[in-house]
Amino acid sequence: MKTKSAPSEITICDRTYDEYIEMVKAFHGHVAPGVVLGGFMVDLAYRNLPQVEYFDAISETRSCLPDAIQLLTPCTVGNGWLKIIDLGRFAMSLFEKYTGNGVRVYVDSQKLDDWPELKAFFFKLKPKKEQDSELLMGEINLAHTSIFSVQKVMVDVDSIKSHRRDVFTVCPLCGEGYPENDGEICLGCQGKAPYLHSEMLIVPKE
Ligand SMILES: [Zn+2]
Repeated sequence: MKTKSAPSEITICDRTYDEYIEMVKAFHGHVAPGVVLGGFMVDLAYRNLPQVEYFDAISETRSCLPDAIQLLTPCTVGNGWLKIIDLGRFAMSLFEKYTGNGVRVYVDSQKLDDWPELKAFFFKLKPKKEQDSELLMGEINLAHTSIFSVQKVMVDVDSIKSHRRDVFTVCPLCGEGYPENDGEICLGCQGKAPYLHSEMLIVPKE
């Protein structure tokens, strides 16, 4: 029998579990299991990260985990301190900005066997509507950080730097600024824009 740890005893980066859940609701829209798992992961990474002045973050997935990182650390996609490198793994790292020394936390699939509902969620073994979300959240709370493993890592800081936006120029077709090394015309005009249709709106003069 596992030792029961009530959610109220769990802290996530100095917040209570309930405080974190409120933050998740406000930011993410609903209490997604992945953002709760992500909160535990960020907390675990923080506790294993040596004292450093500046650190950056990597999320190895686009879903849920980036929001936990943005809620609990100063690192956001917008300020560039959080990079999403979509390897499709539910894993994240925090590392010293300049040396790349840091820690990586990942869901250890071998540790999921004790938690059938969590395992089913994680490996998408059941359609979403068949998920028992109360049971799932219960397992997430009881499992807490026991399903993760922590690694010491050294990040290749040069390889994850974006040099793409160094020099900007004006696109001859759309007239908008774009990174020069994208080509003669911007990526939007190269057919990569997601719009089926666009037209100018006449904005009335004040
Ligand atoms: Zn263009």
